[in-house]
Amino acid sequence: MTNKELADLIYPNISSDVSIYEKKYPERNLPEGAVVSRFAPSPTGYVHMGSLLTAFISSFVPKTTNGVFFLRIEDTDGKRSIDDGVAGIIKDLTDFNINIDEGALDEHKSIGAYGPYIQSQRKEIYQSYAKKLIEDGFAYPCFCTEEEIDLIREKQEHKKTRIGYYGAWAKCRDLSNEERAERIKRGDKFIIRLKSPGVFEKKVILNDLVRGKIEMPENDIDIVLIKSDGLPLYHFAHVIDDYLMRTTHVLRGEEWISSYPIHNQLFNILRFKEPRYGHLGLLMKIDELGSRRKLSKRKDPEARVSYYHEKGIPIEAVKIYLLTLANSNFESWYESNQDKPLTDFKFDFKKVSESGSLFDLEKLLNISKNYISKLSAKDVYKNLKQYTKKYDKEFHDLIEKNENYTIDILNIEREQKKPRKDYSSYGDIKNHIWYMYDDLFNPSLIDYDFQNIKNKKEITLILNTYIEKYYSIDDKEIWFDNIKKLCDELGYASNMKEYKDNPENYKGNITDITTVIRVALTTKSMTPDLYEIMKLLGKRRVTERFKLVNVE
Ligand code: GLU
Repeated sequence: MTNKELADLIYPNISSDVSIYEKKYPERNLPEGAVVSRFAPSPTGYVHMGSLLTAFISSFVPKTTNGVFFLRIEDTDGKRSIDDGVAGIIKDLTDFNINIDEGALDEHKSIGAYGPYIQSQRKEIYQSYAKKLIEDGFAYPCFCTEEEIDLIREKQEHKKTRIGYYGAWAKCRDLSNEERAERIKRGDKFIIRLKSPGVFEKKVILNDLVRGKIEMPENDIDIVLIKSDGLPLYHFAHVIDDYLMRTTHVLRGEEWISSYPIHNQLFNILRFKEPRYGHLGLLMKIDELGSRRKLSKRKDPEARVSYYHEKGIPIEAVKIYLLTLANSNFESWYESNQDKPLTDFKFDFKKVSESGSLFDLEKLLNISKNYISKLSAKDVYKNLKQYTKKYDKEFHDLIEKNENYTIDILNIEREQKKPRKDYSSYGDIKNHIWYMYDDLFNPSLIDYDFQNIKNKKEITLILNTYIEKYYSIDDKEIWFDNIKKLCDELGYASNMKEYKDNPENYKGNITDITTVIRVALTTKSMTPDLYEIMKLLGKRRVTERFKLVNVE
């Protein structure tokens, strides 16, 4: 029996004429140097930040080279897929403005001419190539049961030899085609395996974009190409898809490095042009005990992409941080090119960390603070409104009702050369400004701490004297002079130098006085510019708040 007859018996309704696919998915007509890259997740739940980083780099490089970025859903492992996995992935990407040029949009819709982009919808393509490999003597049906495979492993473990289905261990490799046909006709379950031509003692070299040359033994394992459900395993699907989709750069996690010899072998057998590979390190974290470990979906909330939306951390800040992680020379480029679009940055694979980058939430929040501080008050207001609409309806309604007032609050110490950097996220803003709204200023919940001045009578005296004799708000200098006068009247030093020289001459100093006013108005001892705050509150509300303290 010929290989062709066997192949026809296995796949009677599939054509092994793969030239139709070559024609259907021609080489892309792109400018010299254009990178075609992809994100190829399995739809197993929400996207991990590490995957988002991979997706981001994979989308960034095509953008800077006039290439193509596409999304392929790798769902051939049915057990691991979840129903709305695809929608979840698309949402996570679009929420981060990672837009695809091609690929799956949902389970049924896609854009681009190289689809379908969901692997479970490409069964016929994989089977065509599998059939061709059977005809060419590079693949065969394997009838081994799980128990038989377990037994092989046990024997190998016992003999302390390499584990796997290869060489003499590959029981079904040397069956005759007649025997194979007989068992198929009998209804025995089977899978399709590669008949690996590799020699373990020989070497194959991966020229990794990130890590340079890596030498590994050739693959000699007869890996599974097609499972018993007719769908391929990762290796076979990856090679066929990335060839037919004309991918030039495969960027993926470092856990795939050891599979490269298999992929290289498949590319060679199928006579496909191999893409360039870049294997990216995992995201790491320093845990509470100071040791380095993987950023974990289970343990670290910041590993989840949705975390950033829930907190209201601007995606632009996350992107800047991701680029900082991805390329060690990005930070210095960004320092001097803050006004340019990020896509002006030339991504250098050699500057990608091999050992995995340390994910530092504090650093990301600092980037975020910096980013938000540079926005106009109107933009911050707009973003805050959008964020609170979803995550804090009460505050949303409040700022909507008081739009101009809120913009004025957000404008304190903003739109100037060195803006104030208070807000690390939109979710954080309310913590900083709630006291500016009477609706949120609930005296029964307030525990005033006036710092150095503890005596209630003294506090009342300061506040009353101020409002009766020294309150003025039209001009910042006069405002400040008046506070000094208040100090002089009540025996506090208005001049810090004089105070330092002779502290015993005074009850305290001007800072103690402004702290009393500040705490009475805001409950906080540290706030943005007090003059600006008082201007926005206005005399009536300042007086009311002082009274609340007196009631205490
Ligand atoms: N589906 C694989 C994964 O999620 C993709 C690896 C690749 O990008 O080729 O790890």
